[in-house]
Amino acid sequence: MIASSPNEIRFAQRRPWLGTSWKMNKTVAEAMEYARLLAVWAQTAPVEASIAILPPFTALARVAEVLQGGVTRIPVQLGAQNMHWEDAGPFTGEISPVMLRDAGANLVEIGHFERRTAFGETDITVNHKLRSALRHNLSVVLCVGEDESTRDFGVVQEFLSIQLKIALHEVPASALSDIVVAYEPGWAIGSQGSSASAEQVSTVHRHLRSTLVGLYGVDHATATRIVYGGSVTCEGVSTYASIPDVDGLFVGRAAWEVSDFVRIIEAFCAARAGYHRTA
Ligand code: PEP
Repeated sequence: MIASSPNEIRFAQRRPWLGTSWKMNKTVAEAMEYARLLAVWAQTAPVEASIAILPPFTALARVAEVLQGGVTRIPVQLGAQNMHWEDAGPFTGEISPVMLRDAGANLVEIGHFERRTAFGETDITVNHKLRSALRHNLSVVLCVGEDESTRDFGVVQEFLSIQLKIALHEVPASALSDIVVAYEPGWAIGSQGSSASAEQVSTVHRHLRSTLVGLYGVDHATATRIVYGGSVTCEGVSTYASIPDVDGLFVGRAAWEVSDFVRIIEAFCAARAGYHRTA
């Protein structure tokens, strides 16, 4: 690849990140079996990438045991799908960052569209959670994304700038290496056949990176991974992998079988390696 801008140089350097959240799916036994098979693959995985699985809370501790029991060639992060920002207290039904660490998680997803729309998550609570996660040495997948009407009104970029800026309020540049930004448009998540087009993703990711440049400067912004999520399928992977500002994928349903997740990871990494050779 002939790199001519800091972003292109960084594109070649940013390690792909591919994760799957299982939402409210899988028993402990199913989660452990998935993790076992993934860990076997990861022992000799023919890719350079960071991999993450995000089981339901109930399976975290047992999946941690499975992952800790094997030596993998590439990192496999274990993530939770949400957390409260306090360490402990009268918050019935909530899970704290201390508990996540205790269960063996090293990652947490914050601000998923479903949390924002179905459970009243706001930009401000996202910011509280994000700063708390970092204090507890949890890496973060920070989800941002607009709904359909925001897109219809033509204010996607303004909307996403606000989400990102509030989420990152008082977050130092040094923490960016522990944050993966996931662009997940609400209209694409969980839909039948409405994943975002390459052009939509490219435009938004470029915008998110330029918002990061405004907040943190070029070096930090171009080192930060921005991934896409929303009805990704194995067939669509290579399209996203060749977009310069797409550093990985966050996948729901299409990765709930471990063999499919592995196919997606390998397809992304192969397509990206091909892009570097020909660009
Ligand atoms: C998600 O909910 O984060 C997601 C990407 O789901 P799906 O791939 O099923 O659309």
